[in-house]
Order: sequence, then C-alpha cells, then structure tokens
Amino acid sequence: MNESLKNAVIDSDAAKEDILMQNPDRPAPGHILNSQDILEVQYYGFDGALHRGQIVMHKDVARDVEVFFKTALAMGFPLSKVIPISDKKYAWDDVVSCNDNNSSGYNYRLIMGTDRMSKHASGLAFDINPVQNIYVRYDENMREIFRLPKEGVYDKDAAGTLTGDHPLVTLMKGLGWDWGGDWKPQSGRIDYQHFEKTI
Ligand SMILES: [Zn+2]
Repeated sequence: MNESLKNAVIDSDAAKEDILMQNPDRPAPGHILNSQDILEVQYYGFDGALHRGQIVMHKDVARDVEVFFKTALAMGFPLSKVIPISDKKYAWDDVVSCNDNNSSGYNYRLIMGTDRMSKHASGLAFDINPVQNIYVRYDENMREIFRLPKEGVYDKDAAGTLTGDHPLVTLMKGLGWDWGGDWKPQSGRIDYQHFEKTI
C-alpha cells in the first residue's frame, strides 16, 4: 500500500456480517442477500483528500461498479462518501442517506412513493452524490411533487455532478446501464444520481 492510501480517510470499514445485516422492518430473501458483493472503493472527497468506503452490489454487476469507481478516482471526480445503508446512521433509510450525500447501492426497499421493489433491492442500482444529483418526482401534469434532497439544486457545472455527456455516464451506458438523468417528467421522475442495470 502506498503512502497516500495509508493516509486515506476511512468513511466505511465495516465487517461483512454487519454490512449485510437484515433490515428488521423488511428482511430480504436469502437468495437476494447471498447474491451481494461488498466492494472496497477509493475516491477523492470534496475535501480533496483520498477516502475509502464500501458499497454493496449484486455480484453480477460488481465489476462494472468497480470500473466506475476506478475511473472516477483517475478523473478526480469527487464523491462525498460511500457507506452501506445498513450503517447505524442510515438504518436503511434512503432519505437520511440522500440528505447526508451518501453514495450507495444495495438496499432491500421499495421505489419511493410506490409499492414496487426498487432495483436497489436486488443490488442492481447505485446512487452517486445525491445532493448534486437530485431525485425529482412529477405528477401526471408533469408538475414537480417533491425532490430529494428537499432543498437540492441540480447545477450541471458543480463538482461531483453527472450530466448526459459526462464521461462516467457515457462509461456506464457503454457497459449496459441506464442513467436516471435520461428519464423524462412524463415517466414520473428524473433521478440524476441513479444508475441501474437489467441482467
Ligand atoms: Zn437510485
């Protein structure tokens, strides 16, 4: 390990059994839990320092997500923090995690505002810098119903922001992922932080 890695800021360094602990309010079926991988990732924080975190993804897409983080590191694309949603401070609550600008993957949960399971529930989706890359829902008249974070502003020029022509978005689309920033108000939501893959 080189000097800079030794000095990395540790955002998450939890044990596998703690990371893959069940949410008591919505336990996941065994086959879902058993298909998850824990990735150890490195990234630059908005403080300019090297950080280390962990993200949980389905094992069949874990390599793609590893490529995402390696590319982000090489580009100097900043990430606020990367901490599994089972961490005590989030306790599987996506709103708390988003408000804390946490990037994360697996969470056995519903799509917000619906009764359908999210792609996050199978580890086939991940979110990046929710504060810069907000989530917005629209009603049938394409009026905004809510956004997360509540006071979030999508500024294409701000550091850590994903856009349609961003190299990280191009990279993931090339690997077969959909980016939520391509969705339209007609579909009920735009989700700039969100990548998902169908396998
Ligand atoms: Zn998402």
